Amino acid sequence: MTTEKNIRTDWSLDEIKEIYNQPLMDLVYQAATIHRTWHKASEVQVCTLLSVKTGGCPEDCSYCGQAARYHTDIKVKALMSRDEVVSIASRAKAAGSSRFCMAAAWREVRDNKDFDRIIEMVQGVNELGLEVCCTLGMLTENQAKRLQEAGLYAYNHNLDSSENYYDEIITTRTYGDRLNTINHVRKAGITVCSGGIIGLGESHQDRIGMLFTLSTMPKHPESVPVNALARVKGTPLGDLPKTDTWEMVRMIATARILMPASIVRLSAGRAEMTEEEQAWCFMAGANSIFTSESETLLVTPNPGLQQDKKMFETLGLRPMNREKTPAAL
Ligand code: SF4
Repeated sequence: MTTEKNIRTDWSLDEIKEIYNQPLMDLVYQAATIHRTWHKASEVQVCTLLSVKTGGCPEDCSYCGQAARYHTDIKVKALMSRDEVVSIASRAKAAGSSRFCMAAAWREVRDNKDFDRIIEMVQGVNELGLEVCCTLGMLTENQAKRLQEAGLYAYNHNLDSSENYYDEIITTRTYGDRLNTINHVRKAGITVCSGGIIGLGESHQDRIGMLFTLSTMPKHPESVPVNALARVKGTPLGDLPKTDTWEMVRMIATARILMPASIVRLSAGRAEMTEEEQAWCFMAGANSIFTSESETLLVTPNPGLQQDKKMFETLGLRPMNREKTPAAL
């Protein structure tokens, strides 16, 4: 029976370590079996992520090309208009997306005209019948409440890495700040999207630590993005090596086993993966990807709609309908 009762939030670090360190074939087999118990393995949720305000961010996330302090080629763009965003969302829906995420490169939300415009965007995208998600930085309880009232379905706030490694990649905020915002989102009745990035120079223990924090939350995030570092020239991590896809597969499979009901999103990193490599990620339990007509994921390259369509045909996958999203039930 796939009921809430089967979802564990009391994992120990040792248990997670044991799952994570299994021989890869055993790990993938276990994850694929669990995946098929909880989800339709032929369905992958297609999401669109749009940067509605790009660059100029005061934070110092060492992987991010949108941080104002790094010298990258990324152009700063002011907050888009509500109508422009809603028309992009409408086209995304027509192309098969059932979730639309709007990202603004802010440290935190401020109670000003820009936030009012975000609220209008959320209302407009929600009216299209899409799952609306935002990622806007830190939020207060009141701001989370306003977003919920406007129809926000999910809020993305990644943990990025383990608590131990956090200081190595970001110094302008704490892990505790991150968890506070997630709590505000939960309290407002918005679903949580939270995952992380691998390939930042962290250890396996850090990956296990991040999975421990996510999978022992009182309620698992309904959405867990797993990203490979998208290397941006000019950022402190821009010259790190490409993340090995098998590391992504291991991370996805472990997340699938620990958080069986969640949507596990194969996020950044697809542009550097072959179809075969992505297929391994789907076999390991990933059941969502991001697409966009601009062939970018925020500010880094991402496969185009046609390329993904072809991959879906080859692998016998189809876009998941919103109504079938387990987290939405
Ligand atoms: S990841 Fe977000 S918070 Fe960090 S620098 Fe980039 S836009 Fe700012």
